[in-house]
Amino acid sequence: MKPAVLRRAVPVTFYVPWSVQLFIILKEVKPSMHSHSLHTLLQQVYKLLSPARFSCSLCQHTSTLSSRMPGLCRACYAKIPWITQPRCLACGRAIGCPDCSRPEAGPRHFVWNRSAVRYSAEMKEWLALYKYRGHEKIASLLIHMLKHAYVQAQRESLLASMPRSADPIWAQPGAKDVRQRRSAEGAQGLWEADVLTSVPVSDERRRERGFNQAEVLARGLSSAVSVPYCELLHRTRHTDKQSFKSRMDRVRDMENLFAMLPSAPDALLLRSEAVHERNSADSRSKTLRPLRILLLDDIYTTGSTVNACALALKTAAASADIPAEVCCLTWARS
Ligand SMILES: [Zn+2]
Ligand SMILES: [Zn+2]
Repeated sequence: MKPAVLRRAVPVTFYVPWSVQLFIILKEVKPSMHSHSLHTLLQQVYKLLSPARFSCSLCQHTSTLSSRMPGLCRACYAKIPWITQPRCLACGRAIGCPDCSRPEAGPRHFVWNRSAVRYSAEMKEWLALYKYRGHEKIASLLIHMLKHAYVQAQRESLLASMPRSADPIWAQPGAKDVRQRRSAEGAQGLWEADVLTSVPVSDERRRERGFNQAEVLARGLSSAVSVPYCELLHRTRHTDKQSFKSRMDRVRDMENLFAMLPSAPDALLLRSEAVHERNSADSRSKTLRPLRILLLDDIYTTGSTVNACALALKTAAASADIPAEVCCLTWARS
């Protein structure tokens, strides 16, 4: 290498790491300075040290990918409106929530819902790419985001900020102090679902799209967090798209819309036995707790869909004589 090149590079890069210095030096190298083979070798070293550039799964631009999200460029990653601190602990909404206290909302059959993101204009586009145009690459991206929300829900449960309606420890008088709650949860181990299931679509919708978008997400999350997936529900009739309906019409539409599959009670019983067997072998889990069913859907709008499904799931559990609680995980919260 010519001394002139080094003389120019060293003063500029004196205080920066060696790899950056090497970039600057190699960028200065011209074919005329060296034999062709040396130039090729140096270019290969430069290529190896350069940040990898791939096509982004979403915007298709060739760019440096985000280290936090596989397949996504940094610009697309920056658009994700993560829900890191839900304001409503029941439905997981990031902003003020009048929905959960509305008297006409009726009883809530699930303990809590958590969503990965707010349903911004960009997220609406992403979901449409997945749901209506069948972009499969986006499915793995959404699954990765759901896993993020699942892990966050686990962390949140450690801080004891979630509603714990059916957990016997939280029902004890005096266990109000956060530290007490945290140590009690710690004694039981990290919160985890026992079984994953998804909101079913009608046969007509499945034929139209070729897949059930919630089931694909739930099966993906099942592998990602090692919690078994079980098909437990079916849709009793086809309904028009909910997104065009008023709140009252949605609520009316939901009546008896979901029912348990005939196989659901047996499937839940098997799962419950496996969980109790595992927990009785674990010295930390002394308390017999309800079976935790985690219901997956793509979007939470009014909560009427997941609530109707949660009721059908509790009916299935009750018919198998199993104490169970239903929590929901949705990709976006509108
Ligand atoms: Zn992108
Ligand atoms: Zn709410």
